[in-house]
Amino acid sequence: MRRKLVAGNWKMHGSLAENDALLSGVLAGMGSLRAGVAVCVPFPFLAQVQAKLTGSAIAWGAQNLSQHAKGAYTGEVSATMLKDFGCAYVIVGHSERRALYGESDAVVAEKFAAALAAGLIPILCVGETLEEREGGVTEAVVGRQLDAVVAKSGVAALAKAVVAYEPVWAIGTGKTASPEQAQAVHAFIRGKVRALDAAVAEGLIIQYGGSMKPGNAAELLGQPDIDGGLIGGAALNAEEFLAICRAG
Ligand code: PEP
Repeated sequence: MRRKLVAGNWKMHGSLAENDALLSGVLAGMGSLRAGVAVCVPFPFLAQVQAKLTGSAIAWGAQNLSQHAKGAYTGEVSATMLKDFGCAYVIVGHSERRALYGESDAVVAEKFAAALAAGLIPILCVGETLEEREGGVTEAVVGRQLDAVVAKSGVAALAKAVVAYEPVWAIGTGKTASPEQAQAVHAFIRGKVRALDAAVAEGLIIQYGGSMKPGNAAELLGQPDIDGGLIGGAALNAEEFLAICRAG
């Protein structure tokens, strides 16, 4: 049985004071949860979350990393730097990175490999745009995004990774994929991995992301191939985030 993982993606939100209040609220309400919990925060707040969450049941991570180990890459942050701040996870290939910062499948595959090499668990985001869904190419797009990573790192690498299916049209829009729509793509992803390695497929955590809220979390998380959530907006509110964690 796979343990569910609920991870918050704070995106470019927060301040030292806001984060302190948010994390205190989440810590206070954690109790004993079945699901694993993590927060992925902006780089400048990693020291704060490390100080606040060390010894707690909440893991933390970043939202991006450089594909390069070190060097003349002004403004970039390497995987080993994230390790220094105790990160367990790093989001790789979020649709906002792909769309706004031109991250190709090849760059995402390099970032995924860089994360693994440093001992971080990459949360690989895949997902189609509305145009792609309406054009009937959802599986082709998601399959291509997955293939790029498997071609570079091998299927065994997925044993140390998480995949997040995030339909682009559902991110931050309030439109959620129906449990059936999400389950179908999750099953497709797992089936694709199973064709390469059945054991890796069975153990693979595949999160759903895209306007997951307390009101829809239980039904989504109840699907057989949905193993958790990557949560944007609702992760900025302690009660909403906790409600989703409890549904897992
Ligand atoms: C996300 O940022 O990955 C995300 C799923 O955002 P939201 O929950 O706000 O749709």
